[in-house]
Amino acid sequence: MLKSLANSRVAVVGLGKSGRSAIKFCRGMGAEVVLSEGGRLDDETAYWLKENGVIYEEGGHSFDFLRRADLVLISPGVPHYLPVLEAVRQEGVVVAGELALAALFLRTPMIAVTGTNGKTTVTTLIGDLLRAAGKKVFVGGNIGTPLTDYLAGPQDADWLVLEVSSFQLDAAGEFQPQIGVLLNISPDHLDRYKDLADYAQTKMRLFARQGTGDTAIINYDDAYLRRVCTDLGGQGQDVLYFGHHLKKLVGAEMQGRKIQLNACGEERFDLAGTYFACPPNLENAAAAILAVQAAGCSPSAIKQGMAEFKALPHRMTVVAEIAGVTYIDDSKATNIGAVAAALASVSGSVILIAGGRDKGGDYGLLAELVKEKVTTMLLIGEAGAKMAAAFANLTIIETMASLEEAVDRAAAISQSGDTVLLSPACASFDMFTGYAQRGEVFEGQVIKIADGERA
Ligand code: ADP
Repeated sequence: MLKSLANSRVAVVGLGKSGRSAIKFCRGMGAEVVLSEGGRLDDETAYWLKENGVIYEEGGHSFDFLRRADLVLISPGVPHYLPVLEAVRQEGVVVAGELALAALFLRTPMIAVTGTNGKTTVTTLIGDLLRAAGKKVFVGGNIGTPLTDYLAGPQDADWLVLEVSSFQLDAAGEFQPQIGVLLNISPDHLDRYKDLADYAQTKMRLFARQGTGDTAIINYDDAYLRRVCTDLGGQGQDVLYFGHHLKKLVGAEMQGRKIQLNACGEERFDLAGTYFACPPNLENAAAAILAVQAAGCSPSAIKQGMAEFKALPHRMTVVAEIAGVTYIDDSKATNIGAVAAALASVSGSVILIAGGRDKGGDYGLLAELVKEKVTTMLLIGEAGAKMAAAFANLTIIETMASLEEAVDRAAAISQSGDTVLLSPACASFDMFTGYAQRGEVFEGQVIKIADGERA
């Protein structure tokens, strides 16, 4: 990695919000910046680039354009394994993401959160708890404000809280969070990684540079993590665990709706009546409590922040109860682990609306839960046929032409006490602009049914 950006040539790959911020930051550090954008740029953006003296290519990333750079800086959504990036690496060009920049230029202590599911919830909660304790916090990374915005500013926060994706960890350079939280590993993005081990290896990079004085926080209930984390602590960092049966390990033990700290504070947190009372949010709370406790927050600030937390949309959001049927929007469940958590948390029979763009996971992992809880599965989107084959003989399966049709069908066949759950196990981009739009369409249709019921 370069030690300074002054007088170097930086090629930013991928524009978007982060790319724009990276361009400004690198120019501010005295670099000559060029842009390589895979899509087409609109007139306004092209004008902005010209105004800022940024030469660009669009419609793809070319070897000749990138190889002249000293540093190729990839935006968070760009996979590090693109063949053109591999080719320029072979030429000796440094290819890095914004976490690698943070390692060079950040002066604020950092809590970084990764895992297959729960990242946004835990990152947001950690930010809220730190604020409740009177700390100045910057929350960013994969959510909210780009990290380079913070690097370019006065860097005046007490803590930086970052949601970190696998793609970002692939290009993280010397990135070393003082506190790293790894929530869980379950099959996801297997359309991009060789296998689960390869994907897990990427997540473990969170701890690769940690040493004495740093803290690693790990989910001890996650069987896969327990296996791959056996050597953790060998670099001198403290290792804290959260889980139901910690034996003699140091960390946070979940007992019903309570979280008991062992050998790291002895405090007990009762989460009954809060958003975090049930799994999987109980685990999320335990992880966040360990992180902020390690960052010096008092138990009273933690309790206050927990009680005031505002639930994030499209994550197990109860939309309505109509004729005794509960409708839940879990549109953010874009992989198998999230759907497993959703099904496990619902009691009674479920009419599951699922499907969308397949991400290469094994739906068979849901077989037992589907057999036990799902009376009918209503499938939408491209993955319909693959999912129908995976769940054949386990439940009744119907294929729907649209999400609206699926909601109407669910309303028609459900009985009092049932739950209608949108928890797709797939990406949304075959039919929607993103998970948020998918959730809004679901909620809109449920509200129509509720209004019809009242009329
Ligand atoms: P991420 O940012 O990792 O996608 P979110 O907090 O946005 O995580 O939640 C994504 C989905 O995962 C939602 O469907 C949510 O209900 C589910 N979820 C949240 N926390 C967990 C967890 N600890 N384990 C499994 N699923 C979870």
